[in-house]
Amino acid sequence: MTVCKFGGSSVADAGQIRKVKAILDSDRNRRVIVVSAPGKRYKDDEKVTDLLYQCNSLVQKGGSCKPVFEKIEKRFLDIAKELKVDTKPLQMLLDDIRYQIDAGRGQDYAASRGEFLSAYVVSQFLGWEFVDAADAVIITGDGTVNPFSYDSLRMRLEDERRNYVVPGFYGSTEDGVIKTFTRGGSDITGSVVARSINADLYENWTDVSGMYAADPRVIKDAKVIDALNYMEVRELSDFGASVFHEEAIAPVLPVEIPINIKNTNRPEDPGTLIVPVSGEKGLAGVSVRGGLSRIRLRRLMLFKKHGTRHALLTMLHIFGVKPIYTISGVDSVVWFFDSRNAQGNILQAMCDRLKTEFDLDYVEVDHGHAVLGLVGAEIPETDAYVRALTALRNNGIAPTFVNFGASEVSVMYGIRDSEKEKALNVVYDELFR
Ligand code: ASP
Repeated sequence: MTVCKFGGSSVADAGQIRKVKAILDSDRNRRVIVVSAPGKRYKDDEKVTDLLYQCNSLVQKGGSCKPVFEKIEKRFLDIAKELKVDTKPLQMLLDDIRYQIDAGRGQDYAASRGEFLSAYVVSQFLGWEFVDAADAVIITGDGTVNPFSYDSLRMRLEDERRNYVVPGFYGSTEDGVIKTFTRGGSDITGSVVARSINADLYENWTDVSGMYAADPRVIKDAKVIDALNYMEVRELSDFGASVFHEEAIAPVLPVEIPINIKNTNRPEDPGTLIVPVSGEKGLAGVSVRGGLSRIRLRRLMLFKKHGTRHALLTMLHIFGVKPIYTISGVDSVVWFFDSRNAQGNILQAMCDRLKTEFDLDYVEVDHGHAVLGLVGAEIPETDAYVRALTALRNNGIAPTFVNFGASEVSVMYGIRDSEKEKALNVVYDELFR
């Protein structure tokens, strides 16, 4: 059995939903699908989920969501009319949702309704059964999946003679209140559903023919990766590759269900196969995460006192700074964090506090950093990481650090944010052409 998740562009309008039907009709193993809310139809179009967040903001500011909700309403009614889905019950659902948003049901409720309505319309069009994620997917306080969800979903999706449509992106808290995953979270729902019914394959349908070895907006002719393993996907997503949600590996990891990233507009393309562990020791890809700031601090014998590292991190936490990457020395440490995390005056206050409490020789924060990640199971065994480093240096890019060994499948190079694109080109040319 195959579980298919269709992303926002695959359900953006009636034409796209017809493509979904053709894909399902061509393989009867595709019995359970998860859908996103309608995404963009063209470059400057608005995603339904973004509109729903706007609806909630209007209500928070004391107004009504009506002016924005009308756009959502039109979007769904147009789709339904074109697909010859009865608009009367749909109109009733829309009226109720508008009422609930205006009544202040909150952000997660509002945001979740795009997937709810999308799954409703698609289920009506296909003649498949609608299973509400709110009744079966339980999301814990920290945003991860409560394992009870698997049993609960299995019970609802059990009948092998039936076909089901499940809305992505949301579930309920343990107390039964609607809660969403982070943005792009329908990928996670797809994984949860695949695990619950022990699917043979999880197909993730999107608008590109797989994961690219480098961001195709920068490297125009970047290659699609044929196959890579779970860990490689996690790392590539962490460095900024955005095709597949970085948390969506977790549910399928223990049960080892392969994932195929496929293109709804070109279903004949093989796409990218994500397998638990690949036998191949290739290089998977390269990507860059920009917009980072750096904090550096030092004092002779800083770490002699037990627990200092922990105390330093606690201080960062108090000021809202969440380190993403760490480099440690004998008497010094460097952390990189998202620049959007903290403002200048807060950072200044944090540095002052660190300096006095830990009697530091220096503590400095600077901005405009990026980290380039080279990912692939081949990395520990070949000279690829040396070649990448040499290529960077030969092209005038002197990394601020190289981090090798923390992960078995990646190596990181600290670079300047302004060098991001050039660095990507240089490494891609050296290793992937
Ligand atoms: N519709 C949600 C979003 O735009 C979730 C998803 O598409 O996966 O983030």
